[in-house]
Amino acid sequence: MTGLTDRLSQRARETPPSGIRRFFELAEEMDDIVSLGVGEPDFSAPWAARAAAIDSLERGRTSYTANRGRRDLRERIAEHVTRYGLSYDPDEEILVSTGASEAVDLAMRALVDTGDAVAVPQPSYISYGPTVTFSGGEVVPVETHAENEFVLTYEDLERAGAADASVLVLCYPNNPTGAVMTREELSAVAEFAREHDLFVLSDEIYAALRYEDEHVSIATLPGMRERTVVFNGFSKAYAMTGMRLGYALGPSEVIDAMNRIHQYTMLSAPTTAQFAAIEALESCDGAVEEMRTEFDRRRKFVISRFNEIGMDCFEAEGAFYVFPKCPPGWEDDEAFAEALIREERVALVPGRVFGEGGRGHLRVSYASGMGELKEALNRIESFVADH
Ligand code: PMP
Repeated sequence: MTGLTDRLSQRARETPPSGIRRFFELAEEMDDIVSLGVGEPDFSAPWAARAAAIDSLERGRTSYTANRGRRDLRERIAEHVTRYGLSYDPDEEILVSTGASEAVDLAMRALVDTGDAVAVPQPSYISYGPTVTFSGGEVVPVETHAENEFVLTYEDLERAGAADASVLVLCYPNNPTGAVMTREELSAVAEFAREHDLFVLSDEIYAALRYEDEHVSIATLPGMRERTVVFNGFSKAYAMTGMRLGYALGPSEVIDAMNRIHQYTMLSAPTTAQFAAIEALESCDGAVEEMRTEFDRRRKFVISRFNEIGMDCFEAEGAFYVFPKCPPGWEDDEAFAEALIREERVALVPGRVFGEGGRGHLRVSYASGMGELKEALNRIESFVADH
């Protein structure tokens, strides 16, 4: 059958392919490639979590769970998030989702009406914009700046016209920059949200991957709990990306609305993964700490090498990304990334993929082994020296 694209919905036709994919595809065609492009840990999930998944299968625990997720898992999540000063009721205020990705989509659908404006700081993780569009909303891009190490400020929000938005997305520790926000910096954003009655969707999936200070959730600031949904999950801290498990925390009315959409579209999150997640929360703090320590070692190495090479790289304190500037003489991050992959077979993601604010930068993931990182940085060094 031909002409099938005409049959696609306008929404499907207008959804662009992910800019990250294109670079993966280029990389796949090459031998001897070193990719610092991926956003997932190079570790496997902690053994205890995998063993719990296997055990659940051996016992034949393969049915659906409650729509909101197993109650024992929700109880452990409630207990776990107290370490960030968050307190949520397992029955009313927690929803277990198929990755944080599903939770982001559900929250947009629960809060955004056709034509509503959603403020999305940029550079930011690539799925926020499309989920706003799927809900019929309009993205208001809010540029953050390299001079502020990509922290979102009150002035950035004002300048972008975010006062007219109904929802604000926040993602700290940040993908793609690795930036984090202090309590004081978050207070200014919280003030803006209260003044302009914005509901905040705070993606805190990298909360456990902080290297200098403790993570602060905006939901713990005065007047914010009732206007915030927090997302977290097991993909990053527990290296469980393929298990597809995340969760949302928020006021019962919003979580209930999200659950109503979830029960028709997903029914319940993967059961096997829920058993793994219970064990992860119960016994895997040590394994998370080991991964965090290793990420921190790599982070310091990568930042110092980029600065040595002459690619300005600020001290990113969270997640597993750094966001160096293109070297002098290179303005265009896409041209740089493309030449680098072709000539030196090193894959980085151009900052532009994450929105205008990312122009002139590159996202580098250090969720790869030290050997690969060293090799990549050596190749980048000779590339920069040769141009
Ligand atoms: N939010 C951010 C900021 C991410 O970087 C990612 C994964 N790349 C996700 C959400 C999606 O996570 P999950 O695997 O839980 O769907």
